Amino acid sequence: MKTLFEKIITREIPAAIVYEDDLVLAFRDIHPAAPTHVLIVPKKPIPRIAEAMADDQKLLGHLLLKAAEVAKKLDLKNGYRLVINNGADGGETVPHLHVHILGGRHLVWPPG
Ligand code: AMP
Repeated sequence: MKTLFEKIITREIPAAIVYEDDLVLAFRDIHPAAPTHVLIVPKKPIPRIAEAMADDQKLLGHLLLKAAEVAKKLDLKNGYRLVINNGADGGETVPHLHVHILGGRHLVWPPG
C-alpha cells in the first residue's frame, strides 16, 4: 500500500510543492510548527532512517544537500533546523523517510 507521501509524489494527494527533482520532493507541511515548515522526502519509499541501506548513501547525501538548498531558496537567512523523526518515541507518524525543514522563528532546544 502506498504511503501518504508516495501519494503526494504521484500527485494523487495535493500538496504545496516547493522543489522537485528526479530523486526528491519538497512540500509544505500541512500543520506547520513554524512560520516555514517544509518536508523533503526521497521519492524512493524508505520507511525511516533506521531502514536506510548502504546503497542509499548517495540518495541520503542528495536529500541533505537539497534540504539546505531549499532552506536557502525559502530565504531562511537567520537559520533553520532539520529534523528526522524515527519510530514511535521519535514522533514519526508517516512511515516514509522525511526531513523537516523548520524556520522563521527562534526554535528552542531541546525539543519536547
Ligand atoms: P512525522 O511526525 O515526523 O512523521 O511528520 C509527518 C508530518 O507530515 C507532520 O508534520 C504532518 O503535519 C505532515 N503531514 C501529514 N499529512 C500531510 C499532508 N497531506 N501534506 C503535508 N504534510 C502532511
